[in-house]
Amino acid sequence: MGTSSDLVIADGTIIDGTGRERFEADIRIAGGKIVEIGSKLSSAGAVIQAKGLIVAPGVIDIHGHSNATVYKNPSFESKIFQGITTEVWGNCGQSFAPILEGENRETVKNILSTSLGAEDLKMEWNTFQEYLNHLPRLGINVLPLIGHNILRTNIMGKSEEAATEREIEQMALLLEDCLKMGAYGMSTGLEYFPGTFATRRGLIELCKVLVRHDAFYSTHIRNEDRGLWEAIDEALQVSEESGCPVHISHLKLAGRNNWGESQRLMNYLTDAHDRGINVTWDVYPYAAWGGGFEDIFPNCENDRERLAGIAQDPELEQRIKREIAEELKLRGSSWDKITITHASNSKGVAGKNIEEIARECGEDVLDTFIRILIENDGVVKIVGHDMNQEDMKYLLKHPDTIIATDSRAIAFDSVAKNRYPHPRYCGSIPRVLRFAREGLFSFEEAIRKMTSLPADRMKLWNRGRIEEGKFADLMIFDPDEVTDRATYEDPVQPPAGIVHILVGGELVINDGVHTGKLVGRMLKQGR
Ligand SMILES: [Zn+2]
Repeated sequence: MGTSSDLVIADGTIIDGTGRERFEADIRIAGGKIVEIGSKLSSAGAVIQAKGLIVAPGVIDIHGHSNATVYKNPSFESKIFQGITTEVWGNCGQSFAPILEGENRETVKNILSTSLGAEDLKMEWNTFQEYLNHLPRLGINVLPLIGHNILRTNIMGKSEEAATEREIEQMALLLEDCLKMGAYGMSTGLEYFPGTFATRRGLIELCKVLVRHDAFYSTHIRNEDRGLWEAIDEALQVSEESGCPVHISHLKLAGRNNWGESQRLMNYLTDAHDRGINVTWDVYPYAAWGGGFEDIFPNCENDRERLAGIAQDPELEQRIKREIAEELKLRGSSWDKITITHASNSKGVAGKNIEEIARECGEDVLDTFIRILIENDGVVKIVGHDMNQEDMKYLLKHPDTIIATDSRAIAFDSVAKNRYPHPRYCGSIPRVLRFAREGLFSFEEAIRKMTSLPADRMKLWNRGRIEEGKFADLMIFDPDEVTDRATYEDPVQPPAGIVHILVGGELVINDGVHTGKLVGRMLKQGR
């Protein structure tokens, strides 16, 4: 018999996250955990009627960036409404800590405010521990990573040199400090400034620190289109030589040259795994990527000074135009496939592709591109439609693929609507569930890829499954109705068919309505 503080989820169909076939049962929750799974459980407390609905573990989003938006959106609105109850944040080399006192402090802050769009955040902390103390109450659980770009900038500022032995040692010590304070691991963003200047040797040394602390390593690899295979080899070598398991973030086959290679890519990684390299990866369920102008602007990154120089230097401008045109061609992309999603200083461009904007302005496309870039100091967000649907679905379906969103939490408000984020921000999880209903894989398999698989990878032994003794992070949805409503044209849309969400046994979404509860936890390594 339960007590009045118990909660029972009655008559639901359980998909437990392990991949095993669904079954009908009641679930009793007490003290934030699942305490009993059985039939006809009575309750002296509240009952959630789940007849006809699927009860699954809450989604663990192994690739998130909500560290940038949590201050304005502590409820993680776009995440929790999709059924995400835990996020790994600090990915792609970018974390908001540490930001040490000293000559590089302002540079670190600048990188964070431009790349993560946290312009009005004061960042009044130094260490990782102080950063944790400055966080608001959280709407979902978080596993924090330390970004390599930030480690490096703390030690080396804007330097484009390879790190010296001494600098590598300083980064390693700084990383070790953060791990001791509970950081879950490290991420790299080797395609971005200044991660792009990291050497294999420097990465291996940092990974050795991670091995000593049994910590997680995720990498946004050096290139995802024409240098994809070399970039994957680099990730595998760093893992092999350091002994550190590697997780490849948002794995994709970008650029027409890579189309049709999904089977080869999966074989390549599983062969590496069979050779003893502990490699895992995540994929998001869309055939368009989202990023910044720097993604198609090979040698300029986020460097405002060089950008400002373009306006005064026609020769530099010509050279950069040539490079960009060449880059686009090599990727097998074109200007009508590049859509601007955010450029705060250029009116009326969000949601349009660059060819469209150029036509409207009666300009050459390259002139349009450079003008928007200068107007916005290089901070322009774009979506690029240069992947292949079939490849994306093949990767998604592979049994070892973890499914993630690669997104930051946003609110369903007009500010977000005017920024045209990638639809994966609001639609990833319900989209995967829709793919399951349409037959890409079973619901059981789809849910496994988003719950127990990432939980095991993160060594999160008490979440990601419906089992007695596990935390009651749960998603309850209607298998006939669940679907994504976010589109490229109208991306800020909550999903349909996701009914109730519980975080640690607390009802956070009740019948599609947020209860206002902020009951997520900062999950620290080793505690
Ligand atoms: Zn990334």
